[in-house]
Amino acid sequence: MLDILIIGSGPAGLSAAIYAKRANLSVMVVEKTAYGIGQIAESSEIDNYLGFPNIRGFALGKKFREHAICLGVEFKEGYAEHFEFSEGIWKTVFKNGDSINAKAIIYAAGAFHRHLNILGEKEFAGKGVSYCATCDGAFYQGKVTAVVGGGNTALDYALYLSSISSKVYIIHRRKEFRGSIKTVQELQKKENVEFILEAKILSISGKDMVQELCLEDGRKIKVSGVFIAAGMIPMTEPVKNLVMLDPYGYIIAEETGETSAKGFFAAGDVRTKALRQVITAASDGANAAVSAERYLYWRSKNMTV
Ligand code: NAP
Repeated sequence: MLDILIIGSGPAGLSAAIYAKRANLSVMVVEKTAYGIGQIAESSEIDNYLGFPNIRGFALGKKFREHAICLGVEFKEGYAEHFEFSEGIWKTVFKNGDSINAKAIIYAAGAFHRHLNILGEKEFAGKGVSYCATCDGAFYQGKVTAVVGGGNTALDYALYLSSISSKVYIIHRRKEFRGSIKTVQELQKKENVEFILEAKILSISGKDMVQELCLEDGRKIKVSGVFIAAGMIPMTEPVKNLVMLDPYGYIIAEETGETSAKGFFAAGDVRTKALRQVITAASDGANAAVSAERYLYWRSKNMTV
């Protein structure tokens, strides 16, 4: 039986694996697809991970993975479908029927950005289409950008981009905003911000990089970058009846990664947190591994933490 089974091979899962392995615990990382490195694989360039300026997302993910392999971390490909807890043991059951027992679980399955599923979105991902202004905004210095969505993420992206881009369009499908009215008012004061409301994007086009957005009403908008902020979907389906979730489906957990279930820790984008970035996911993995290690220590003494 393993000490810790880690679900997810993104920065949170791999960081947890490194910390657990270095604490001499037996650990295995479960990945949905072979050689998965999580959402960073989608980032063409990452420029805000300390010590690695201007690195491709895939290259950074590969470094994380090589580090884990170097320490002897084992991987298993599979989709962890559900979890059972009995007599202090967590049984993880996979979609193909396999199961693995572990004394503790670190769940770092991540979240994914809701896509618009429009023409050009996939084709130009990483070539002008981005889902994260904090990650990619700096590449649009002095250029025209657009933000899609009317939630707090979209508004925060627009505010952030307004000090980088020459012009920012906020394209939202309704007149009312889901996000904070205070931020809307702040944006209304900005000379380089233009609201395009009750509008939907039909397609994104360009040559090598994004050049134009075509709206459903026929309007065409020239932009160099489009930031899609249509909400995120946490990968919490397998745990929804197991641990407490917030109203948006994220696992309620603080920095320690402790959840409402004993011996079940959450790390990375899947948990409630203010900033979802590679660096905060890696930090979460470290915290969850140390919490799991403490839990295992007290468990071995037959005492609760
Ligand atoms: P969100 O609140 O769910 O907003 C998503 C936005 O995308 C909505 O305006 C929605 O339009 C739009 N949208 C969804 N699907 C679309 C589609 N297919 N085409 C066009 N537009 C589409 O998501 P979020 O902004 O990521 O925020 C998630 C949670 O985190 C919220 O509770 C938010 O308040 C919180 N958050 C807080 C802060 C902060 O406090 N500073 C910052 C970021 C996030 P409709 O409105 O028409 O549905």
